[in-house]
Amino acid sequence: MFDKILIANRGEIALRVVRAAREMGIHSVAVHSTADADAMHVRMADEAICIGPPPSSHSYLSMAAIISACEITGAQAIHPGYGFLSENAAFVQAVEDHGLTFIGPSAEHIRIMGDKITAKDTMKALGVPCVPGSDGGVADMETARTVAEEVGYPVIIKATAGGGGRGMKLARTADDLESAFRTARAEGKAAFGNDEVYIEKYLGRPRHIEIQVFGDGKGGAVHLGERDCSLQRRHQKVFEEAPGPAIDQPTRDRIGKVCADAIARIGYSGAGTIEFLYEDGEFFFIEMNTRLQVEHPVTEAIFGIDLVREQIRVASGMPMSFTQDDLKINGHAIEVRINAEKLPNFSPSPGRITQYHAPGGLGVRMDSAIYDGYRIPPYYDSLIGKLIVHGRDRPEALARLHRALGELIVDGIDTTVPLFNALLAEPDIQSGDYSIHWLEDWLARNIG
Ligand code: ADP
Repeated sequence: MFDKILIANRGEIALRVVRAAREMGIHSVAVHSTADADAMHVRMADEAICIGPPPSSHSYLSMAAIISACEITGAQAIHPGYGFLSENAAFVQAVEDHGLTFIGPSAEHIRIMGDKITAKDTMKALGVPCVPGSDGGVADMETARTVAEEVGYPVIIKATAGGGGRGMKLARTADDLESAFRTARAEGKAAFGNDEVYIEKYLGRPRHIEIQVFGDGKGGAVHLGERDCSLQRRHQKVFEEAPGPAIDQPTRDRIGKVCADAIARIGYSGAGTIEFLYEDGEFFFIEMNTRLQVEHPVTEAIFGIDLVREQIRVASGMPMSFTQDDLKINGHAIEVRINAEKLPNFSPSPGRITQYHAPGGLGVRMDSAIYDGYRIPPYYDSLIGKLIVHGRDRPEALARLHRALGELIVDGIDTTVPLFNALLAEPDIQSGDYSIHWLEDWLARNIG
């Protein structure tokens, strides 16, 4: 086992990893930009080292600065959290070239899954069901037209390098195709330096269901059921739950086994998420994330497992601490993402937090790195906390969420808390009947 690990991230996820490391008796090293000198992850880690100025490109994304920080502090392994360098194959390679361990999958697996066309081809070959669409990339408008007609409108044009909801354009009819094709290519090029695109059938009313998988890197793998992350704004998740209200045990066992078998066959190591759209009882693969997800705590809650601890164990060469048979679902969990944003436009709301009080009590977990007097820097994303509740069943989890939101105090800035209070009053949310379009429709009617 490692003696010391470095956490190449900030905010709540950096703190999350510090906590797992401390429970394992491992020293933690925080890195930070000059804007984050007073951040909670810096205060809570055993050591901290400044790696550059505020812009992420010069700090949290600087491979050289992070690897130097490892060498200076004597850390043996790097946990990347999510975002930043967590899915950067070149970084993993550099880490290994310096004799350090990356806490996550191999550079090769990150590379395969980071290119959505290659990921889809790989998953198809492994027997995972995919969204109907083009066979690989689509290079010109003529091919795009032929494919779109075969697949049937509406279609979605996606950049193979896309992520975070960017590089995706909808074409409802043949008239929209050309502009969607050009825009998706241009966005792919501008945001990710790659203009290759592919075409998928646009599903009308699917749910976003993702399967948590975990591989031991030696050909063994398990699945930890699903999360339903259908409530999205601009293709970004805001509310996640496990188990999925629309998934029963036989369905879970079936798709979970397909996913676990697929990653076992490629010898995948560590945590991963295989994302699907789910419509009329059928699963369609969209992408795989080769890292810990923001919403991992709902899975931890229902299985009673620490996924970060498991990541660190497996990266150190130890076997996994549980088998598929050990994994039994206990109750229901919901997470809401609390962002420093002002409704109705969700515009960023950085500033100083004048008062913070975290909710507590049975079944309540608040993962956040804010504190009284903390000033939220304007340079990074707007997530300031995740409120996770766990109950014996879904109604209990919903009631607990309502109660916990009522206890939470974040003064001095605007947050997305009022959104969740309003959502909890909706019959569709109470019954669990929502698709990936539900929230956008609701926002247009109620807030837009
Ligand atoms: P990103 O990598 O940017 O997150 P994804 O491929 O994971 O992109 O898709 C993000 C979201 O976009 C999905 O959760 C879903 O809401 C929507 N989406 C993606 N593909 C389709 C599709 N074929 N039909 C309908 N919606 C889609």
